[in-house]
Amino acid sequence: MSLLRYGNVCALYYRHAKVRMPSQLDLLYEWFGNLLIQIKDTDGNTKKKPEFDERECMIHAVRYHGKLYTGGDMIISQLCGRLIGTAKGNREKQRKNAVLLQKRAVRSLHENYALIEGLMADIEEKLMALDEEAFPEFGKDILDFIIDCAYERAESTAAEIDGEPFPMDDEIFDTVIYNAAYQFTLYTMEGIVNAYLWLLIGSLFRNEAGRLTRRFDSSFIEVNRAPSEDPSLISKLDYLLFPEDYEYTYEGDDVTSRFPDIVWKCDECGAVLNDQQGFDERIGLWQCRVCNHINPLDIANIYDCDEDARNGRNQNDEQKFRDAIERRKQELEQNKD
Ligand SMILES: [Zn+2]
Repeated sequence: MSLLRYGNVCALYYRHAKVRMPSQLDLLYEWFGNLLIQIKDTDGNTKKKPEFDERECMIHAVRYHGKLYTGGDMIISQLCGRLIGTAKGNREKQRKNAVLLQKRAVRSLHENYALIEGLMADIEEKLMALDEEAFPEFGKDILDFIIDCAYERAESTAAEIDGEPFPMDDEIFDTVIYNAAYQFTLYTMEGIVNAYLWLLIGSLFRNEAGRLTRRFDSSFIEVNRAPSEDPSLISKLDYLLFPEDYEYTYEGDDVTSRFPDIVWKCDECGAVLNDQQGFDERIGLWQCRVCNHINPLDIANIYDCDEDARNGRNQNDEQKFRDAIERRKQELEQNKD
């Protein structure tokens, strides 16, 4: 069974927190709250069996002495086991119910952005509770986990992947893991919260998480994706983590411009500057004709994608950029002969 399981993702945190990892219903409730489980108000001392409501696709439970009461209920235990990734055996009915719960919960997240913000706030609060030594260790474990998941996947056969209780499509798996890595490498609190949320969502909701990967960028901001080629996850991660190992290439035929084929957008209003009358990228600064904002035109302001621009993530190297154009220039000259 694959590494990307809800129980494993949760364990990354509890390994460093000074609290014991809860089990079953409590573990689901701890990170997803009433998105998955509705808790009935009781005096806290009354045993009542939890139930899965098939119409609402929701678990109902009560607290008993501080924990969510399971009473050893086989149905709920099987259902939780499926979701957390511990259940073995072949209880098809509970697998189906787990899928219904995944679908309903993801639909809620998709329709109500406040729920996602709520999950982020809860995660941040929990991470803040880690002490000074535990926090960096937790971060290190997240990154190792992301890389281990990617390698395990790359080394799995199609039969192994399809044989999992909730097989994930490559596209969804890759996006979840890549998003987590991307956010992690911003090295901010917000980035780590986002990274962990992607792992929790991916591990718990599996293929249903695709609804969220298609709608949001890695920081859960709504995006319109441009269709792009999708190289393997391992090579994307490698580029993300070790950009210095990569040479640049340029394949266009504009070898006289300072920044050939770069589309400049106004930092203030987003207007495409290249289209504005008299635009000249050699000047180094350009005042937007729409909003008058002065935009610097240099290597530090070139981004691979909109998300990088928002995050101020720029790993471009001016020398490599120049070298790529120079190599292309020589290539074009040779081809002329
Ligand atoms: Zn502007």
